[in-house]
Amino acid sequence: MSRILAIANQKGGVGKTTTAVNLACALAQAGQRVLLVDLDPQGNATMGAGVEKRTALPTAYQILLGEADIGAARLRSAQGGFDVVPANRELAGGEVEMVDLERREFRLKAALLEVADEYDFVLIDCAPTLNLLTVNALAAAHAVLIPMQCEYYALEGLTDLVATIKKVKMRLNPGIEIEGLLRVMYDPRSTLAQQVSGELKRHFGAKVYDALIPRNVRLAEAPSHGLPGVVYDRHSKGAQAYLQLAREVLERAAAAVGSAAA
Ligand code: ATP
Ligand code: MG
Repeated sequence: MSRILAIANQKGGVGKTTTAVNLACALAQAGQRVLLVDLDPQGNATMGAGVEKRTALPTAYQILLGEADIGAARLRSAQGGFDVVPANRELAGGEVEMVDLERREFRLKAALLEVADEYDFVLIDCAPTLNLLTVNALAAAHAVLIPMQCEYYALEGLTDLVATIKKVKMRLNPGIEIEGLLRVMYDPRSTLAQQVSGELKRHFGAKVYDALIPRNVRLAEAPSHGLPGVVYDRHSKGAQAYLQLAREVLERAAAAVGSAAA
C-alpha cells in the first residue's frame, strides 16, 4: 500500500517544492517507487523534476476535471527516478471549474486510487493557498508534511494550517494526521531561528524532524538544470539533509505500517 503525503504550507516560498522534489528523488534512490503530483499552477515541481510544463498534456487539470486518466498523465523524471503528474497554469482555472463538480473535494483521491498500488510513496506538492486544490490534496493524503522557515510569523501561519487540517479531519478525511514538521532554510547562527525551533519542539515534540535543511545555494541552483538537488550536487549540505529526511520518512512510514498491523 502506498503512503500519500501532502507537502503543504499556505505561506509562499517556504520550500514546499524543493522538499517535494528532493524527497521524491531521495526516496527513489532508497529503492522506493515514488509518484510526485504537482498540484500548483506554477508548475515548479514539474520543472524541478526535469519535465517541461508548457507542453505537458494531460496534466493534473484534466485529471481533476475527469477529462483524462491519471495513468495517461504520468511522466517519468529520468534523472530523478520517479514519476510525475505535471501541472501548469491551466490548473488555476481548474480550481474554479471544480467547484460545481460532484464530490469536488475528492477528485484527486479518486484518481490516486487508480494508481496508488504501483507506488510506495505519493507526494503531493501543494500551492501556497488553502483553496480547493489544497483541500483535494488533504482529502487524499494519509498525512501532511509541513516545511517551514523558523522566522517570526511562521508559528502564526502554522495555526491556520493546523486549523484547516482539523477541519479536513472532521469533514473529509478522518485518518489524516501531521506527518512531520521540517525546518528549512535553517540558519543555526540565528537566535530567532533557534527560538522558533525551540517553540516548534515544545508544541509538536517528536513530529519535528531531526533533519534540518540548511540554506544552501546548490538546492536553489538545481531547478534551473531541471535536476533535484540530491542529483545536482549529492555532496552538498542541502542534499545530504534531504537524504537524512528520506531516512526519517521511511522510519515513520514503517512505524505507521507497524501500528496499523498491531
Ligand atoms: P511556493 O509557495 O511559491 O510554491 P515553495 O514553498 O514551493 O514556494 P520553493 O519553490 O521550494 O518554495 O522555494 C522558494 C525559493 O527558495 C526557491 O527559489 C528555492 O530554490 C529556494 N530554496 C528553497 N529551499 C532552499 C534552501 N534550503 N536553501 C536555499 N534556497 C532554497
Ligand atoms: Mg512551490
